[in-house]
Amino acid sequence: MTFATLGLIEPLLRALEALGYQTPTPVQAQAIPAVLAGRDLMAAAQTGTGKTAGFAVPLLQLLTLEGPKVTANSVRALILCPTRELAEQVHASVAQYAEHLPLTTYAVYGGVSINPQMMKLRKGVDVLVATPGRLIDLFRQNALKLNQLQTLVLDEADRMLDLGFSEELANIYRMLPKKRQTLLFSATFSDDIRLLAGQMLIDPLSIEVSPRNVAANTVKQWVVPVDKKRKAELFVHLMRKGKWKQVLVFAKTRNGVDALVDKLQGLGINADGIHGDKPQATRQRALDRFKASDVQILVATDVAARGLDIEDLPMVVNFDLPIVAEDYIHRIGRTGRAGNTGEAISLVCADEVNMLSAIEMLTRQTLTRKMEQDFEPEHRVPDTDASGQVVKKPKKPKKPKTSGGGGKRNLGKWVESGDVAAEPSIKPVRKVPVFNTGPRKKK
Ligand code: AMP
Repeated sequence: MTFATLGLIEPLLRALEALGYQTPTPVQAQAIPAVLAGRDLMAAAQTGTGKTAGFAVPLLQLLTLEGPKVTANSVRALILCPTRELAEQVHASVAQYAEHLPLTTYAVYGGVSINPQMMKLRKGVDVLVATPGRLIDLFRQNALKLNQLQTLVLDEADRMLDLGFSEELANIYRMLPKKRQTLLFSATFSDDIRLLAGQMLIDPLSIEVSPRNVAANTVKQWVVPVDKKRKAELFVHLMRKGKWKQVLVFAKTRNGVDALVDKLQGLGINADGIHGDKPQATRQRALDRFKASDVQILVATDVAARGLDIEDLPMVVNFDLPIVAEDYIHRIGRTGRAGNTGEAISLVCADEVNMLSAIEMLTRQTLTRKMEQDFEPEHRVPDTDASGQVVKKPKKPKKPKTSGGGGKRNLGKWVESGDVAAEPSIKPVRKVPVFNTGPRKKK
């Protein structure tokens, strides 16, 4: 299957080709024709699946081929995102896809001055990416009208609810024209999300895809509990014991990268580091040397490693766990590719137990722990499992599972009401207010 066979117009095909997208990802293959056909969509897909292009590309095509020109202070498509970072990221992608189209795009979010945003909206914008709070502020200040809205996208809907945006979403819902297309994307499907979807969507097509690398069965993953201050020592010990040859190591911060590289180099180990403070050329050089095996250990932050073409490594080490659980999947996806086996080892200290728990929930597995002799931590790492429960004290009996919502990070498996007991039993964080604006018409 190609993007052309999905019925995309030439300017979009050109943009995708320039980005190196050759084949549609599963979510794109399902979403693009459905959106082009005007359907509402309820998609269980998270970052890394290509979901952004899945909704943005067909949406841009519809805006190009259908509907009147945008008028002052209006928007024709609205993409709601939970955070400023995601809004920026989504907008950057949308702008790339729209490069050869006669459409305008813009992103608005809180934490920065509202005035430039108001100015920019004066002429109207075809595609607006927004966080909920700032969108409402702009609307209330009459800087924004939604009567021209054709398409609404709720991106990472579960995170919006988790971050407490349910009131804002209810307010926005009241501002929307009834005749529109609505696309909802969420990594997880708790009862709250289902309620939201029931109110916002009409006869939606349901799509479920697993994240690209989560099923990395070829990657052997385990955790070594250790005290924070002994991580570097443990790393060197494991490296020597396992005779590691080429290892990509992830550290949380720039300082963390530098400190580990200094320590390794001080021991005569051939190591280099990449992080956002280093120029792109320096990063690329370090990477090239790593690929050519001139450098044995490459230490990186998530941000620096993103977008770098590091493929198929025998071993990935999480010196620190990532703050965002999805990054764990991106990290370990660097190994075990194309049928090769790989190893992913995480050095975990007591402080990181919540991150470990989030990763186990996301990947739906309890990671095996292997204690390393002479490195047993003084600060015990509490027990965790894939249900997201962190057992604070040893031997505390676990609560029996009850049926309930899917919870924060259960990876969006679609469940019917009869199935919910099979899902991790995490209570929904908040209630979604009931929207009382009556049924709406399909576009
Ligand atoms: P997303 O899940 O939308 O955050 O996308 C994850 C990453 O995959 C982004 O870096 C995209 O640029 C990239 N991507 C999306 N679709 C494709 C595709 N069809 N082929 C190659 N890369 C893609």
